[in-house]
Amino acid sequence: MKRHTRSLRSIWLLVTLALLLSPGLWGCATTGGADVAKAPSGTAKNIILLIGDGMGPSQFGAAWLYSNRVLGKNLKMVEVMQTGRTAYIANDTADSMVTESAAAATQIACGVKVPARAAGMGTDGKTPCKTILEIAKDRGMATGLVTTSGITDATPASFSAHVPHRSDEGSVATQELASGVDILMGGRKQFFLAELSAGKRKDGRNLIDEARASGYTVVGDAQGLGAARGPMILGLFNMGNMSYEIDRAPTQEPSLAEMTAKTLEVLSWNPKGFFAMIEGGRIDHASHRNDAAGTILDMLAFDEAVGVALTFARQHPDTLLIGTADHDTGAMSLIGHSQTSKEYVGIDLSAIQKVKVSYEVMQGELGKNPTPQKVKAVVKEYMAIELTDDEAKMVASDTIRKLDPYNFSYETLHTLAFVLRPYLRVGWGSQTHTAAPLYAFGMGPGSEKVVGFRHNTDLFFIMKDALGN
Ligand SMILES: [Zn+2]
Repeated sequence: MKRHTRSLRSIWLLVTLALLLSPGLWGCATTGGADVAKAPSGTAKNIILLIGDGMGPSQFGAAWLYSNRVLGKNLKMVEVMQTGRTAYIANDTADSMVTESAAAATQIACGVKVPARAAGMGTDGKTPCKTILEIAKDRGMATGLVTTSGITDATPASFSAHVPHRSDEGSVATQELASGVDILMGGRKQFFLAELSAGKRKDGRNLIDEARASGYTVVGDAQGLGAARGPMILGLFNMGNMSYEIDRAPTQEPSLAEMTAKTLEVLSWNPKGFFAMIEGGRIDHASHRNDAAGTILDMLAFDEAVGVALTFARQHPDTLLIGTADHDTGAMSLIGHSQTSKEYVGIDLSAIQKVKVSYEVMQGELGKNPTPQKVKAVVKEYMAIELTDDEAKMVASDTIRKLDPYNFSYETLHTLAFVLRPYLRVGWGSQTHTAAPLYAFGMGPGSEKVVGFRHNTDLFFIMKDALGN
């Protein structure tokens, strides 16, 4: 065993030396930021890319505080940062300073700035661009896509399909299966079923039957996933998006960490390595609704998936692990003062702990045009908070949405988040995505370039270069 390790080490040293003597081999076509790390560290056999959709700086900060102060442990993302590298990431696009998920994911997948809404299309928004997943596939590597949102949603679509508009999710489902991505897991089963079978496909096809016929093991719950052996798995765990972590029934829907573990286990059987993209897809959805507890719990679920990837990367040092976000959502802020405090205190973690459901579930309970009494009852039941009559009236009259309907469009929820500011000490500047710079962290071969101030298009070149020639 020792001998084996020693001979591996000498091969590694030789390869490193050879690469050091070949200047230019590692020059990557970055679009911005200092090209700090020119020293190679060998090539990567596997790439695990983890994307927190909507994971802006305050989502990260809130999860870090909750993890340390409530759960008594550090974030796995921080562990990667401390053993690996960290960078700031800018994410502006060909046509905007604020991106949506399809453009952001396409920029990471293809390395070029693109316009909004197209998925897997180049700078003109019409011509398919070659994605890092396709490059990996061409090399005989296994591939996998996992998300808690829809597997046909913008982020996975941008790696595996080419559609002029991200809303064409029926085409995305067809393309994902046709291209033979080995692992596909997430929600939005509706795009795999015909309208007659309660799905949304207009072409009458049943893609689930077709997938089974072409060799996929198809699973629909946590137990099925546990038993699945691969080598190809289609996991569709919800007709719509998978549940927010705060609402999830563990026997029905697997956690993101469970999906990640199965994905890495199955894909790692390929001797040529693999590319996997793992997305925490619902951090974004909770933040759109200005839902602090929902956001934090989905952040922690994402962090557990990072932990699974971290363990794998430690056991397989020829793995490049990169984690990042596509954009910030909601301009979340952890504000200082409570109703009574004269000194800064920050987010009320014990109040967050008492929240029982997502804002989306609460919105369903409130219904359209709720009375102030209904608002008070729902907030008390699900958040253990007693709103005043004035606060409840403000929520019922949907004040914030009326003030800025362009940036606050979810009924009642933004005013609810506003009146809850003194209780939770979390503010929201918008319901939309923002231009806030993001974090990226990495470890393993190629991660030396995950430093300084980078653009999200650089991540493509970092991954591509890590695979070597
Ligand atoms: Zn979003």
